[in-house]
Amino acid sequence: MANYELTIAHLYGNLLNTYGDNGNLLMLNYYAKKMGISFQSEVVSIHEPFNAKKYDLVFFGGGQDFEQVIVSKDIQEKKEDLIEYIENDGVMLAICGGYQLLGHYYMGAHGEKISGIGALDHYTLSQENNRFIGDIEIYNEEFDETYYGFENHNGRTFLGKGERPLGKVIEGHGNNGEDQSEGVIYKNVYGSYFHGPILSRNEQLAIRLLKLALEKKYGQKLDLPEEFK
Ligand code: GLN
Repeated sequence: MANYELTIAHLYGNLLNTYGDNGNLLMLNYYAKKMGISFQSEVVSIHEPFNAKKYDLVFFGGGQDFEQVIVSKDIQEKKEDLIEYIENDGVMLAICGGYQLLGHYYMGAHGEKISGIGALDHYTLSQENNRFIGDIEIYNEEFDETYYGFENHNGRTFLGKGERPLGKVIEGHGNNGEDQSEGVIYKNVYGSYFHGPILSRNEQLAIRLLKLALEKKYGQKLDLPEEFK
């Protein structure tokens, strides 16, 4: 088995981590071991620069509006580097609040406009006295994969240019409760409203993200154990 190395940035990991989103890192670590990858992760938070060339994978979790406002201000300083990372096909998983902040803005539950970085072309509106809460199931036709999770969000996200949904809603609300889309795929960025955490119930996605990160770093010809080929 080859000896691969991946360095992961956990963006605002000390602020955005609702419903066990950090479990996504445990899952990445679990599969990395099986795939012969040594895996190192570090939190990149307030007042810390994001080095676009250093990381092979970025994880960005979800949170309450309160923390999102704090992150929204700080992330403007990392905006250019994050856009460079994304445009250079960097691999990223962004959940709920993190997913919202990659877009243009999120209207918070009290009507406040929380700025995103506009790296992706979506925007998020609020809804009055309601949240989308419950189990959710979606289907991704491109990969022929079904994903299961739990959603809990006020925001209603509408996708824009170059974005395709992570899946079509089978059960639950998804991005906005209207167009049956859930989450996003843009280049190598995967966004979703799924908590649970998403990767613990959807191992195919964990493996997909790790393989994308490996391919980006080591090229298409990977020496992986049989079950991951
Ligand atoms: N605060 C945002 C919302 O309610 C994100 C929530 C989350 O990350 N779970 O839509």
